[in-house]
Amino acid sequence: MDTQVETLEFEAEARQLLQLMVHSIYSNKDTFLRELISNSSDALDKLRLEAYRDKDLQVDTADLHIGIEVDKEQRTLTVRDNGIGMSRDDVVALIGTIAKSGTVDFLHKMKESKDAAAPQDLIGQFGVGFYSSFMVADKVTLLTRRAGESDATSWESSGGGTYTIESLDDAPQGTAVTLYLKPEDKDDQLFDYTDGWKIKEIVKRYSDFIAWPIRMGVERTGKDGQATHEVETINSMKALWARSKNEVEEHEYKDFYKHVSHDWNDPLEIIRMKAEGTFEYQALLFIPSQAPLDLFMRDRKRGIQLYVKRVFIMDDCEALMPEYLRFIKGVVDAQDLSLNVSREILQQDRQIQMMRRRLVKKVLSTVQDMMTSNVEHYKTFWAQFGRVVKEGLINDAENRETILGIVSSASTYHAEQLTTLRQYLDRMKDGQQDIYYVTGESRSIIESSPHMEAFRAKGFEVLLLTDPVDEMWVESVREFDGKRFQSIAKGQVDLDTEEEKQTAESDRDQQKKDFADLLSWMTTTLQEDVKEVRLSSRLTTSPACIVGDTHDVTPTLEKMYRAMGQDIPPIKRILELNPTHPLVSGLQKAYGERKDDPGLAETAELLYGMAHLAEGGELSDPSRFIRLLADRLARTL
Ligand code: ADP
Repeated sequence: MDTQVETLEFEAEARQLLQLMVHSIYSNKDTFLRELISNSSDALDKLRLEAYRDKDLQVDTADLHIGIEVDKEQRTLTVRDNGIGMSRDDVVALIGTIAKSGTVDFLHKMKESKDAAAPQDLIGQFGVGFYSSFMVADKVTLLTRRAGESDATSWESSGGGTYTIESLDDAPQGTAVTLYLKPEDKDDQLFDYTDGWKIKEIVKRYSDFIAWPIRMGVERTGKDGQATHEVETINSMKALWARSKNEVEEHEYKDFYKHVSHDWNDPLEIIRMKAEGTFEYQALLFIPSQAPLDLFMRDRKRGIQLYVKRVFIMDDCEALMPEYLRFIKGVVDAQDLSLNVSREILQQDRQIQMMRRRLVKKVLSTVQDMMTSNVEHYKTFWAQFGRVVKEGLINDAENRETILGIVSSASTYHAEQLTTLRQYLDRMKDGQQDIYYVTGESRSIIESSPHMEAFRAKGFEVLLLTDPVDEMWVESVREFDGKRFQSIAKGQVDLDTEEEKQTAESDRDQQKKDFADLLSWMTTTLQEDVKEVRLSSRLTTSPACIVGDTHDVTPTLEKMYRAMGQDIPPIKRILELNPTHPLVSGLQKAYGERKDDPGLAETAELLYGMAHLAEGGELSDPSRFIRLLADRLARTL
């Protein structure tokens, strides 16, 4: 066996995180203890489950617990567990590197943020587990033996760039982490973590609900003045979700949230559920107040822990929450499942599916309630998670109407604020049949696009949808509360009232006749780019715009497909002309007089290019466009 002491380097990201901890910008340093206890509790959960599943495993599960020891003289604090432990390779992989996705992003953001409060927020959002020990300690050692193995490993670091690691012949099963505490510094509000009372207080505060006994040695002075050493269990071990609401204090829920989520911020909303009857279960779910950094990463896990009769079964139970609610954290404890359930079985299980339906409905109704009972919370929720929730419009047909009910969107009605769809419906004009929307890459582009002109002129409100997911759901969702969704950049629009229609009809017939030749000539001339050229009723000031057929893929979506590497054929759309614009009426007149003038085709091309630019598109041959335009301008001088 290799018993040499080996010095290894922390991975670059791990080193950076450690530096942040050593210089501890996080003010609430007590949290380090919660993190260590959380790790120990997880290790005990894992051991119990593994022992249950593998009866041959040579492990001791007789007295699983967490122990805390303080040594005032040495100024050390040890958190010990007899859980699953780690092999030498585990230690190198788990403690020496940071496996969490999003770390690089996190550190990047950290560097960018200049204001003082930001790094704290970010640290809180990220959670740094074991490394938080370095907020209070100069040196940390870890001694561990994986359950079922004989070799042990000891690890030590002073928070610099390196750590040492050594293999040992023996150690108790599980893990002991010892912190060599920094000197006491009252100014820094650094408490004395060798004070038993202080430790007790922190454990009560943050870790009371931990399902394993947390024991600590205490000195007692008896009546005879003799000091005796006793071991005391300092947490109540009560599962929060099994207690009735009025037995649990708000802060206990919050601390529990931090335990399950590894988030250091308070949750936005707490959701309790209890189902009785044939299939009994309890759930304690949380909506975080901030989206995690890896919300959109492919390997992102879901946040529900599954328990069966108080026994931890698995993290990230994807069978219990759909992907579009992947940010929900918490615990579901079912009474009637086998402890042996696997992920595969869960996906098929009918009862699990029923549970999932109930949980989803409960989460959605909680958000719905927030919209009236706590608008600020709802706004935070939507700003953080709206983009994810909208994925549900595509994937969860059953709850589509409910999800539409909680959607907010930018709209032409407000400059900054968002509007809910319900508010949009309430503001619809008399006789307005459809919910008008436009999709695009940014508010500024779509708000000033030519498509908007007639809608603005006639005072119709338009929803401005700029999230990538918007492009998708508007394709699959037909209507909300009986009103159809209608893109202002697709199909024909007709915003005239009945009255206007009658007076405009004869004018329009005349226009159609006047422009018929020009339109068919332009359709031929621009056939490489468009499938039709027609007159528009959506323009007031621009000469032309490009629109899609009702079922055409939008330009943004086309771009997205291409970015994803999909090879889709170029999509031809429709060029619409504004017959009242002097450029268009002038072109019509010129075409009537001199059909053979080659300059006319160039004008047609320029018109198309302008319409394309106006909606934020990119020209296929910008240098040719510029040359044509410059020629024209030169001739006007
Ligand atoms: P996190 O707990 O957020 O995953 P940590 O840095 O605290 O991050 O721990 C990294 C990993 O090290 C844990 O996921 C776990 O696999 C392992 N680990 C930490 N503490 C213990 C422990 N007491 N017993 C067994 N494994 C542990």
